[in-house]
Amino acid sequence: MKQIAVLGSTGSIGTNCLDVLESLSGSLQLAGISANHSWELLGSQSRRFEPRWAVVADADLQNTVERDAFSPKTELLFGPEAIERLASADEVDIVVAAIVGAAGLRGTWAALEAGKRVALANKETLIVAGPLVMELADRSGATLLPVDSEHSAIFQALQAGRREEVRRVVLTASGGPFRGRTAKQLDDVTPEMALAHPTWDMGAKITVDSATMMNKALEVIEAKWLFDLDVEQIEVVVHPQSIVHSLVEFVDGSVIAQMSPPDMKLPIQYALTWPERTAGISPRLNWTDTMTMEFHPPDFDAFPALKLGFEVAERGGTCGAVLNAANEVAVERFLAGTLSFNDIPRVSRAVLDTHEFDSQPTLTGLLRLDEWARKEARRWTP
Ligand code: MG
Repeated sequence: MKQIAVLGSTGSIGTNCLDVLESLSGSLQLAGISANHSWELLGSQSRRFEPRWAVVADADLQNTVERDAFSPKTELLFGPEAIERLASADEVDIVVAAIVGAAGLRGTWAALEAGKRVALANKETLIVAGPLVMELADRSGATLLPVDSEHSAIFQALQAGRREEVRRVVLTASGGPFRGRTAKQLDDVTPEMALAHPTWDMGAKITVDSATMMNKALEVIEAKWLFDLDVEQIEVVVHPQSIVHSLVEFVDGSVIAQMSPPDMKLPIQYALTWPERTAGISPRLNWTDTMTMEFHPPDFDAFPALKLGFEVAERGGTCGAVLNAANEVAVERFLAGTLSFNDIPRVSRAVLDTHEFDSQPTLTGLLRLDEWARKEARRWTP
């Protein structure tokens, strides 16, 4: 029985992951769960799976949380240090890193340091500290497996050939709810409009990122570090149906795609069962229906965030941390009504352009810069 810790078990990836684990309960067992502050849901997960540990990251909730909400078999812990303890516990074999945002970095780092298999759903880890993270995994013997659907698709398609036979990878993007609009037509987009995604059901932050295409920008950076690619080897294509999750083109011109209905359970399950495949609860394509698939080049003028992604992937160093932090704050401000939709990439551009670039930063340096970029993004005005 492999023991699994799910960091961020109450979010969108986390709850999907628990459904997958339930269906694979013959070979995988849930050892630990964590939430930032959704302790009631965490409690019900504890009663459903009876894991050994449950962590509430927000230590201020220590006096609010009701012990009775949790299974008596679960040890209840508080604070971010407890997340690191869970991620590096000897009993844990696989850590699912599903905490959203830069807050997920510490737990992922601890799991990698402890040499675990890490199913990585938190893309910020690679965006903020890609080279440091890959180096750490190399040193500790940790295995990093992508959960992001595009990167899982690339990871699966890469198995059709040798590394030196890869010509390029093509990330697919749904294009979000505003595909086909011009920059001008995006001026009046409200949070409600941005939160209605046509094909994927996800959390608020990533849904807005998907509408600005910042999500794809961040995924370009993620792919660069994860698969050790040159930026020239990465392309983005808009594919509104979200059935092809990404493609790998080999030197002979052959293109291998990974397809499945848009649902996170499959990439989550593959990261848990790799190198094996098992029957599961993921939905399947129905080949008795007529199905149309379109592919369009992305519109870099309407979605300048995408351009930022390629630039940041090219420059590396401190750029990923700055872009990620500035964008997180810009999305918060957009959702709070203090920034327009088109301001989101403008904030990131402005903060990137004024930051002190370092090509080989330390983790401490990156975390300091993360704080600085947030402050700058908070006070940015159009
Ligand atoms: Mg994705």
